[in-house]
Amino acid sequence: MRTSQYFIATLRETPADAEVISHQLMLRAGMIRKLASGMYTWLPAGLRVLQNVTAIVREEMNKAGALEVSMPVVQSAELWQESGRWDQMGPELLRFVDRHNRDFCLGPTHEEVITDLIRNEFNSYKQLPANFYQIQMKFRDERRPRFGIMRAREFLMKDAYSFHIDEASLQQTYDVMFQAYCSIFSRLGLDYRPVLADTGNIGGSTSHEFHVLADSGEDDIVFSSTGDYAANIELADGIIPDQATMPAAASNKSASKVDTGDAHSIDAVAEKLQIPASKLIKTLIVRSDDDSNKHGLIALLIRGDQEVNEVKLAKLDGVAVPVEFASDEQVESVVGCKPGCLGPLRLPFPVIADRSVEHMSDFVCGANSEGFHLTDANWGEDCHFDTVADLRKVKEGDISPDGNGTLSIKRGIEVGHIFQLGTKYSKAMNASVLDENGKSVLMTMGCYGIGVSRIVAAAIEQNHDDNGIIWPDAIAPFQIAIVPLNAHKSPLVVDVSDQLLQTLEAAGYEVLLDDRDKKTSPGVKFADMELMGIPHRLVVSERGLENNQLEYKSRRAADPEMVPLDAILDFLG
Ligand code: ATP
Ligand code: MG
Ligand code: MG
Ligand code: MG
Repeated sequence: MRTSQYFIATLRETPADAEVISHQLMLRAGMIRKLASGMYTWLPAGLRVLQNVTAIVREEMNKAGALEVSMPVVQSAELWQESGRWDQMGPELLRFVDRHNRDFCLGPTHEEVITDLIRNEFNSYKQLPANFYQIQMKFRDERRPRFGIMRAREFLMKDAYSFHIDEASLQQTYDVMFQAYCSIFSRLGLDYRPVLADTGNIGGSTSHEFHVLADSGEDDIVFSSTGDYAANIELADGIIPDQATMPAAASNKSASKVDTGDAHSIDAVAEKLQIPASKLIKTLIVRSDDDSNKHGLIALLIRGDQEVNEVKLAKLDGVAVPVEFASDEQVESVVGCKPGCLGPLRLPFPVIADRSVEHMSDFVCGANSEGFHLTDANWGEDCHFDTVADLRKVKEGDISPDGNGTLSIKRGIEVGHIFQLGTKYSKAMNASVLDENGKSVLMTMGCYGIGVSRIVAAAIEQNHDDNGIIWPDAIAPFQIAIVPLNAHKSPLVVDVSDQLLQTLEAAGYEVLLDDRDKKTSPGVKFADMELMGIPHRLVVSERGLENNQLEYKSRRAADPEMVPLDAILDFLG
């Protein structure tokens, strides 16, 4: 490729509204341009990088046995109503109506669509396990799009979904995906860590995130020196500060018993508490300070026919404690909205929630003076417990939750997230197959996401200097830049540069020959190639050619070196 046929869109000035280095450099290096908040056009050089990342992800997914599909970006509301997420998802789900006044959304993720496909296509255990993936633009109406493509509204995701006859089969595929993710991030040349993670509104039980370590990361991850333990501090979201106390109305009245165990369907809980399920507005899992699975509390917000009028705290292994409100004002102060209004729930004391306030509605409920705190909030189905310690209290140098090594805390950028979904979606959407005995069983599912476009920004956060981006070779838009010096005065320099371009391209390199005319000084050319992050630079000059030499400079090295022209392939190889 020659610059004369290319679009070099470099900028000298740092754009004022770009906060993090990757955003600044992607604009300055001519990789992206902003269309609107959280929406970007990929320019040719940026798109090359994105496509290189995509190719690696695709190769490793294929190698791991996943099959590529492409699902619609626009999804119908019916599917989301079936899974229950139409109501659960907040404004991050961009909804709209078509000309027939039917509800649709732009896909932020595709569990519903794939589950619908598979329930229609599969009928026997013989078709399992299966794993399908796509690499596709997603849309999430992020409350605070920022850092350029790092937290965009439209972004490229690789999402895979696996289907199984049982948990054991899911575990196998989950392990294969885990390994595939490690291969992907290693091949991308990134310093990354897999960590235990929260399952958020995707749901399910076990999940791991993959984080690229970088100070600009939005997540805190904690890991042990032995490397055996790593988790996202987000797991402890919703923990209430020590000084928090329960509202005065939380007295010690006892009530019915609640089931114990890891999963509590809203119906089961309602039945134990002898409350109609329709009256449960929300169940919240509260964990006791000893962090054991079984000593949690489950908090239920209960409404009368029209109004929010009662909160119950039910011990999972014991007794439900009803909290009756004396007045509408008290309801409002605890629930955050007037009786009869089911707005976002809030507590009258501080809750350490996620940075994203949209999660607030999931993180309600309280602590009493004994220090009970909240870990999760789900509509009954698939409520789960994390056995991870109170990570927010963890300090650098502490022993780890698994008893080995010392802990460090670092900032990370979430570039991948894998989940064991269990039967959350297959149950809600009735996706079953016949097993060996001809009995109908719900399929067990996993899902696996990678933020393909976010990886581009994360790679820059880890690889840059004062002069610009330093791409890892595997994803660079061009691996080699050729800069001819004084080409307008030397036909020999032009000839050799052209030859070199041909030879290197024939050897499989992506090469950019800077053939801009003398109006562009060598200094500007060097600066542009460095800013764009091209990892290897060759300078062709009369002086060098006198000795049959080229000047080579690695983007990471301080100084150039001379290389014999006829040995260049061996040298680079
Ligand atoms: P985050 O915590 O950063 O909001 P998430 O947990 O909501 O991410 P997932 O639902 O796990 O995201 O989606 C899978 C992957 O998609 C994430 O690991 C991340 O790499 C990427 N991703 C999510 N949201 C965005 C976004 N707004 N812009 C770019 N990439 C994103
Ligand atoms: Mg998110
Ligand atoms: Mg996350
Ligand atoms: Mg995630």
